[in-house]
Amino acid sequence: MSANGNNRFNTGHGVSGVFNCANCGRRTRHSGQASESMCRQCDEYTAIENGIVNGGFGDSPEEQAEAEARIEKLMSEVRAKGGNI
Ligand SMILES: [Zn+2]
Repeated sequence: MSANGNNRFNTGHGVSGVFNCANCGRRTRHSGQASESMCRQCDEYTAIENGIVNGGFGDSPEEQAEAEARIEKLMSEVRAKGGNI
């Protein structure tokens, strides 16, 4: 018997937006995040991290502290949900 007929079951299409986050590895689904490869929390905290790295908070230590606290919160949310970061 030929195996040709089986390939269509292995394409991964049509799973209603569920995917594994590229950053924390947990299974998640799209819910409005900009990234198509990361979960909502990873998408947000990596964006904030980029802002810090790029000097976006250079004039405001208080805002940077707030941003860092937000990152901590998002990371702990991810860990609580089973993400590995
Ligand atoms: Zn994630």
